[in-house]
Amino acid sequence: MAAQPSIRSSAPWRVLDGFGISARSASRYLQPQSVDELAEIIRRAASEDLKLTFRGSGRSYGDAALNTGQLVVDNRGLSRVLSFDRERGTIELEPGATIETMWRTGVPAGFWPHVVPGTMYPTMGGCVAMNIHGKNCFKAGPYGDHVQELDLITASGERKTLSREREPELFRAVIAGMGLLGAVTRVKLGMKKIESGRVKVRPITTPNLNAMFDCFVERMPQSDYLVGWIDCFAGGSGLGRGLVHQANYMSAAEDPAGRALLDNDKQVLPPSIMGVPRSILWRIMKLMTNDPGMKLVNAVKYVLPETFDSSGTFTNTHVAFAFLLDSVPNWRNAYGDSGFIQYQMFVPDSTARAAMAEALEHCRKKGVVSYLGVFKRHKPDEFLLSHGLDGWSLALDFAVTPGNAKDLFAVTRDLTRIVLDAGGVFYPAKDAVVNADDFARAYGDRLTRFLEIKHRLDPQGLFQNDQARRLGLV
Ligand SMILES: Cc1cc2nc3c(=O)[nH]c(=O)nc-3n(C[C@H](O)[C@H](O)[C@H](O)COP(=O)(O)OP(=O)(O)OC[C@H]3O[C@@H](n4cnc5c(N)ncnc54)[C@H](O)[C@@H]3O)c2cc1C
Repeated sequence: MAAQPSIRSSAPWRVLDGFGISARSASRYLQPQSVDELAEIIRRAASEDLKLTFRGSGRSYGDAALNTGQLVVDNRGLSRVLSFDRERGTIELEPGATIETMWRTGVPAGFWPHVVPGTMYPTMGGCVAMNIHGKNCFKAGPYGDHVQELDLITASGERKTLSREREPELFRAVIAGMGLLGAVTRVKLGMKKIESGRVKVRPITTPNLNAMFDCFVERMPQSDYLVGWIDCFAGGSGLGRGLVHQANYMSAAEDPAGRALLDNDKQVLPPSIMGVPRSILWRIMKLMTNDPGMKLVNAVKYVLPETFDSSGTFTNTHVAFAFLLDSVPNWRNAYGDSGFIQYQMFVPDSTARAAMAEALEHCRKKGVVSYLGVFKRHKPDEFLLSHGLDGWSLALDFAVTPGNAKDLFAVTRDLTRIVLDAGGVFYPAKDAVVNADDFARAYGDRLTRFLEIKHRLDPQGLFQNDQARRLGLV
């Protein structure tokens, strides 16, 4: 039998980017079509001393799924639903199956994923690696809380099944482990029973940051979802003003008509809004994606009332509520070639009000203002390097332009100082800027324990990527 050519000599090169566009690099690229093929790639990469990272849909904002000059293994060839229990809602998926695959499998049987991010495109591998959270994190916890079991291929080629009973320490390190401990090849998790294909949404305007915190505190006990949008341009007594969306599931008794919406075709959004194809909306957005334009957009969003009924609520399909950002395909292109970064700060409850006010005020003072601010409540979880904490997060999207890069990166360093002084942490799925010292300061002993596991399982440092090298994780 002829010898296989090496990966170094035969794998094609690709330029890949993070979702924020601003991080991009060239690497060798392979897309296996079976778990055995994936295992063989891991074996060969190790023997050729190539560094390997996995990639799902590339929805992490920074460099988590980039591997400059080395090897990127795209999991999207492995996208099958392996089993689905229509009575209990338990589902097993391959690593390249997406959140979209999951809800499309569940909805006709009356199930919705317990946890979804703001877009439906992330894969199971990416969701495990980052332990993603949703707008219901304060109640449902992160994605990992709902994972019952997963399969992993380690750097030595060993195949393991992990759960809270089987190798629990490793299970808790792989979830939120940034893909650095091995390839996740199967995920088994539960889904939530739903009786209606829509949620009831209550919009609440909050005149400043404290009012937004108060609104969450008051409403958390009776909400299934809570998310805040913040107008980051507002200052003075309006600093941190915004809009909270509270959403709740509806029972069959409350919403008899909602049953008919447990149908995938009724969940998807129409291809156009008022005659304008969604596919070109980002071009219109691009005209506004600058400081004056986004200041206006944020102000109008704050003052313009949403349409609701006499009870102060409106209904949204699960898809429309959960994946608002997906309603404008390719919206990231509105930022242009230099793209954007997202900086998401996670801070404990006790310091959050002061830290977030300081962050918003500092950005305004420096003239580097986020075009989109998103506010959430979180809770602690069991995963070793998880960003989950008894606290709050504020995600800030900043345009990167040839003219602002120096000021922007100076501001992100200031934000990092605010997060660390407040006892907070960073979230690798969103991060593009944190350095190894700051990451170590944030994660402390947890990072030391993670690195012990990493060095034991992967002494050669096979699994690594641009972010892992930047954060000192190899
Ligand atoms: C518009 C938008 C909204 C978002 N909203 C949220 C949100 O609300 N909450 C939230 O938590 N996140 C959110 N995210 C971030 C997103 O959920 C995460 O970045 C997620 O990890 C992306 O999954 P992916 O499949 O694209 O993975 P990628 O970005 O391609 O990779 C992410 C990580 O997963 C690893 N990985 C991928 N496959 C495997 C595998 N099989 N085995 C081991 N490791 C693997 C990669 O090596 C990498 O480290 C959002 C992203 C976007 C673009």
